[in-house]
Amino acid sequence: MYSSERRSFNLDDANFLQAVGHVLGTAIERRRSEDRARHEALHDPLTGMPNRSLLRDRLEQALVRCERRGTQIALLFLDIDNFKLVNDSLGHSAGDELLQAVAPRLEEAVRPSDTVARFGGDEFVVLAEDVEDERAARLLTERIAAAFTSPFLLRGESHVVSASTGVVMCPGGEVYPEDLLRDADAAMYRAKERGRGHYEMFDDAMRARVVGRLKPENELRRALAEDELVVHYQPYYSLADQTIAGVEALVRWRHPERGLLLPGEFIPVAEESGLIVPLGAVVMRQACHDASHWRGVCSEAPDLRLTVNLSARQAAQPGLVDLVAATLADSGLEPSCLGVEITESVVMEEATGQIEALEGLRELGLRLVVDDFGTGYSSLAYLSRFSLDVLKIDRSFVAGLDSGESSEAIVAAIVGMASALGLSVIPEGIETEAQLVKLTELGCRLGQGFMFSPAVEAAEIERMLSAGVAVA
Ligand code: GH3
Ligand code: MG
Repeated sequence: MYSSERRSFNLDDANFLQAVGHVLGTAIERRRSEDRARHEALHDPLTGMPNRSLLRDRLEQALVRCERRGTQIALLFLDIDNFKLVNDSLGHSAGDELLQAVAPRLEEAVRPSDTVARFGGDEFVVLAEDVEDERAARLLTERIAAAFTSPFLLRGESHVVSASTGVVMCPGGEVYPEDLLRDADAAMYRAKERGRGHYEMFDDAMRARVVGRLKPENELRRALAEDELVVHYQPYYSLADQTIAGVEALVRWRHPERGLLLPGEFIPVAEESGLIVPLGAVVMRQACHDASHWRGVCSEAPDLRLTVNLSARQAAQPGLVDLVAATLADSGLEPSCLGVEITESVVMEEATGQIEALEGLRELGLRLVVDDFGTGYSSLAYLSRFSLDVLKIDRSFVAGLDSGESSEAIVAAIVGMASALGLSVIPEGIETEAQLVKLTELGCRLGQGFMFSPAVEAAEIERMLSAGVAVA
């Protein structure tokens, strides 16, 4: 406001100024509330972080910028591990506290130009631009993972919390933000599967799975509903008298169009989709009933043992031990007749759920059989941590017996170690007489392989048992 003459304000001036002030005040207030509304629409109320829609905008802009500059984006998808446990044990507001405490730690771990958003629930997304290469993305991810190394103070007590992260890199250009988020999510899911508290980079193999998964998954779901899965059995033999000592249950899919499918063609889809859990239950039930039946009808079969394969994902399912106990009770099979075959990675897994499950099965009276022994981890510490019963010597060592001395040394070492620990061994994939002779010399008492029998239908096993057939 400006006056050409010098005088004091009169009443009119004051009224006029008041009116101007009013107009300006209203405009400022409106602007503020618009800003607030815009901010609220784009931010998460709990943590104050950018929300999903702001992230999507930033991602779109970043894709354009990166293409122009010829640089890459790294997108990280983080999901807190076992967050429900915090809610369930300490209360929902402790869960909220945790989310509020995670937010600033993540923000401190990135550059100011990067975006950290709360994607939803316990999921956070980090968008970093101008990331040079995969190595730089890994460094960034590790820096962010370090945000979880010190414990969080919740309800006055400190709690260690971990997160699983999926990382995808992209050079910008014609890419949908949705697709990138989906890929990062798929990689995160993979990290969860591998035991949580880790990160995984999205790769082409994962891309193929994401794109190709839906149809096979639906088909497999249908197969389960229509009872198209059947159980075949590959016997293993006592090498001294060549009689059947036990059978391994192996699932097959009697596909209406493609014929009999081997596990390699559908188990990966089952694992990925979680359908392995109902599928595993079907196999377990069928196999226990068959084995119980054989023991009842065949005089040759009273000592017959059955093993069923168990994947990491199955071992991690809640209620596994109860399910196995119920299946045994229902089929009338003695627990001591049943063994589960697990890979070394399952025994090595630090995930407490799996360890408890294996211990629970062991308490039920089941045998624990380690499959493909010698191909997984080099650490042997787990051999003494669990009460294991059988090591199956991987077929690659048996095949190697024909050609080199190193396999012989390895098999001899495994047999020696197993005997010192009170475990039995079963070499897999025996195909020739020469291998059989060598394995017997090395002290193996049991063996499995095409030389004796491939996997066959249940009826064939019954025939072999009742005829007392040794070598097929
Ligand atoms: P996982 O290791 O597989 O991620 O298991 P999880 O227990 O973390 O389970 P998941 O990530 O699937 O579920 C996240 C849970 O977070 C689901 C929901 O009950 C809870 N949740 C979602 N939003 C909020 C929130 O704002 N506050 C709190 N306290 N809990 C939330
Ligand atoms: Mg979670």
